[in-house]
Amino acid sequence: MTSFKAGIGDKYELVVGLEVHAQLSTLSKVFSSDSAAFGAAPNEHISPVSLGHPGTLPKLNKKAVEYAVKTGLACNCTINLNNTFARKNYFYADLPKGYQITQDQQPICLGGFIPVRLADGSTKNIAIHHIHMEEDAGKSMHDQHHADSLIDLNRAGVPLLEIVTEPDIRSAEEAGQFLTEIRKLVRYIEVCDGNMEEGSLRCDANISVRLKGQTTYGNRCEVKNLNSIRNVQRAIAHEFERQVNIIENGGFIEQNTLNFNADTGETSVLRSKEMANDYRYFPEPDLTPLALTKEYIAKIQKDMPALPGVLYNRYITELGLSEYDAGVITAERDMAQYFEAVIAGTNNYKAAANWLMGQVKSYLNDSGTGISEFQLSPETLAGLIALVDSGKVNNSVAAQKVFPELIKNPGKTAEAIAMQMNLLISAGDNDVDRFIQAALAKYPDKVAEYKKGKKGVLGLFMGEIMKSSKGKIDPQKTNQLLIKELEGK
Ligand code: ADP
Ligand code: MG
Repeated sequence: MTSFKAGIGDKYELVVGLEVHAQLSTLSKVFSSDSAAFGAAPNEHISPVSLGHPGTLPKLNKKAVEYAVKTGLACNCTINLNNTFARKNYFYADLPKGYQITQDQQPICLGGFIPVRLADGSTKNIAIHHIHMEEDAGKSMHDQHHADSLIDLNRAGVPLLEIVTEPDIRSAEEAGQFLTEIRKLVRYIEVCDGNMEEGSLRCDANISVRLKGQTTYGNRCEVKNLNSIRNVQRAIAHEFERQVNIIENGGFIEQNTLNFNADTGETSVLRSKEMANDYRYFPEPDLTPLALTKEYIAKIQKDMPALPGVLYNRYITELGLSEYDAGVITAERDMAQYFEAVIAGTNNYKAAANWLMGQVKSYLNDSGTGISEFQLSPETLAGLIALVDSGKVNNSVAAQKVFPELIKNPGKTAEAIAMQMNLLISAGDNDVDRFIQAALAKYPDKVAEYKKGKKGVLGLFMGEIMKSSKGKIDPQKTNQLLIKELEGK
């Protein structure tokens, strides 16, 4: 796709600000009692309120406000105690009232930031300008009928949060990481399912370029309705090249609203600045200002779950996990919760992480399920870890024999399974000695090599011993005895 002359892009800096729409997972709509559920037949979830019939009045959904506050707290925002609503007026077939109720002058969350981790190991804070509440519009479908466009108003009135960043983003990678973090956060705090394909998270990207070192921003274009992280990144990459090429050719960036074509990876003009909507915002007369109290916010703050960033840091600094492991375990709330429950039953954090990252994840991948459907309880897994730690079963026997059997019998304990399969390490010191002697006798030349300093042959002896003992010995202890034997000879 690169259509640059070599090196030209290096002169320019990308500047991006994102507007992310998150559909709140409340049961009912934001200003009516209509169901807000996704996936119903067209126009099943409508009422005179969401159809905007004359005489109907909006009534604010408490849960939507609570979710907005939770999101603001998760994004380090200041929560605005004095909220107002506004009408954003425009004409469109899927907007029955002819306006959208939104927040303009006094949105619910101000300021804030989200830290994102980048591939080079650094962390960058992306500043949030504000977060406001609004209602979603309906959906127009242009491909269901040969001549007409059809309208589904189930979505009209579903609560949305719009999260608006400062123009802080400098690369497609940063944009992708920011969206990944937002999706993770809204899932952790359970305000939005974060499903981009179903449109629960949608993103508009404001993109401009400027010469490196320049302090003012260039003219920006706004690419509308991007429905996957990958498409946000593709749109950014495409716009960067397109805008740089225009400027390099002596042109001027017009401040347009653009569409992104996922098939071609290119953008096209949806509206030019001259055609820009004038929304004629004014205060919503049918809703009183919303006053929140500090106590209300403190209560929500108190009930907030541990956030992924906090867990990530704790896993690295307190539990000694690698950045990679901590990242994978905290990527999904369900996985983090499972891990938390496992480490409530064992102090061997590293082993708990290894089991989750290894056997458990590969089992889930193979069976196409998620951790929330995993049949082994965290307590049972902690029991398996304890069994290995006690030296009664060695690690590979635990992984290859006990674990698969445990999955088939999730009600049993690891110890019961190991006993039933006759896998408990039972060999006494005398037996171990017998296995050691047999292994040494089998490879006298390797014994000689060991004595000449080739310590690597230990592995060969251990392999032989494990095989002849069928794994029913304690490998660490055996290893010590083996060395003692070799050094003594
Ligand atoms: P509006 O969409 O109402 O015009 P703003 O102008 O405040 O609102 O900006 C909306 C978004 O555009 C914000 O995310 C902001 O960070 C971003 N933005 C503003 N100026 C630029 C720019 N020159 N380049 C890239 N993004 C920008
Ligand atoms: Mg905008």
